[in-house]
Amino acid sequence: MTDGPYMIDLGTFDVVVVGGGLVGLATGLGMVEMGGRIALFDADDNSLRASRGNFGLVWSQSKGNRSQEYATWTRSSIRDWPALNDDLRALTGIETHYRSGTGLHLCLKEDEFAKRERMVERIAAYNLPGDDTRMIGREELLEIMPMIGPDVVGASVSSLDGDCHSLNLYQGLGMAYRRAGGEMIGSAPVRAIEPKADGYVVKTDGHRARAPKVLLAAGLGSGALASRLGFPTILRPQKGQILVTERTEPFLPVTTSNIRQTPEGSVLIGDTKEDTGFDDRSSASGVASLARRAVRSVPFMGRLRIVRSWGALRILTLDGDPVYDESPVHPGVYVATTHSGVTLAPAHRGPLAQWILNGQKPLEFKAFSARRFETQPQVGGVVQ
Ligand SMILES: Cc1cc2nc3c(=O)[nH]c(=O)nc-3n(C[C@H](O)[C@H](O)[C@H](O)COP(=O)(O)OP(=O)(O)OC[C@H]3O[C@@H](n4cnc5c(N)ncnc54)[C@H](O)[C@@H]3O)c2cc1C
Repeated sequence: MTDGPYMIDLGTFDVVVVGGGLVGLATGLGMVEMGGRIALFDADDNSLRASRGNFGLVWSQSKGNRSQEYATWTRSSIRDWPALNDDLRALTGIETHYRSGTGLHLCLKEDEFAKRERMVERIAAYNLPGDDTRMIGREELLEIMPMIGPDVVGASVSSLDGDCHSLNLYQGLGMAYRRAGGEMIGSAPVRAIEPKADGYVVKTDGHRARAPKVLLAAGLGSGALASRLGFPTILRPQKGQILVTERTEPFLPVTTSNIRQTPEGSVLIGDTKEDTGFDDRSSASGVASLARRAVRSVPFMGRLRIVRSWGALRILTLDGDPVYDESPVHPGVYVATTHSGVTLAPAHRGPLAQWILNGQKPLEFKAFSARRFETQPQVGGVVQ
């Protein structure tokens, strides 16, 4: 890429972060707090942003089905959530409304319950400290949620699980990053990352920044950048649709994996799992299936009006577990991607930031290498 006449040279940093979603901001914040000089480029408002469209769960019970490392990583991140919450409040005045204590996944049929039970048993076999996830039957569930419908046969429950106002988290991380001294340039999609003898030059249409290290945290935008920098194809989009009801009096005492009531009284109903490529629009069939399940789970929901719905694309790796890795071809270029950017925000601010800035690699990361996808068909970025 040739430099235009008006290219602004931002200088040299310890790390340039590409992408200002939950992953880039949390990791950027951590690195600035550890004393790093960090520049972060984010693309424009038309770009895909999972951080604007998620369900806001801080959730452990389904994480780690395939790998103990992911189970451990998730649970230790959740243990650091209260500290993140307090720090964001102190640094920015923004309230994430984080709460935890009872997180439920409701099962509507015996076969759903049996499948869930197998998963819970598999993860329980790791014997992770503080993990009390267990299955409960309808009778015990009625004591926690007397308003469940007749089709609900039971649930899995974890005291670690809960939720937050994820847009406040997003805003809080951005504000905290800037207040701590991080450089942030918005509406500036990165066009090129050029290897040099002493590091990399990262270029947008109007800026240039140098650093020995670059973190790719551009969500689905990381796919193409990463494959040009020596990583295999790691990503695929998956659509999730979410509904919001009118506000009503508090009636849901706990958070469930697909119905949760906000402190303002709206109820969020989520979220579909659809393979629609890059199509993130709401659909009548998606809205209908979410509404049907919500009413079967909690019949009172049938009385509430839906006031809003949206679709957003999850950033899934090919096996669903995170990727945190350094390029085997371009040392100093890292990629970080996960479909649990809310839950894992404290882990990104802490150990992930520590690894990229100071080289201390968390033990779990051997399981999160992109190399596990080298044998998959390579399509240069994102599988659709
Ligand atoms: C429907 C749905 C429900 C979800 N529910 C939950 C949940 O309950 N709990 C949970 O923990 N997680 C949940 N998630 C996942 C969570 O939202 C994501 O893991 C998280 O937002 C990912 O953040 P990110 O920074 O990787 O990506 P994004 O939020 O997509 O951010 C990527 C950023 O990179 C920028 N970018 C792209 N290309 C470039 C470029 N070339 N140069 C510069 N910048 C670039 C974009 O503008 C964007 O701002 C959900 C996701 C969806 C879609």
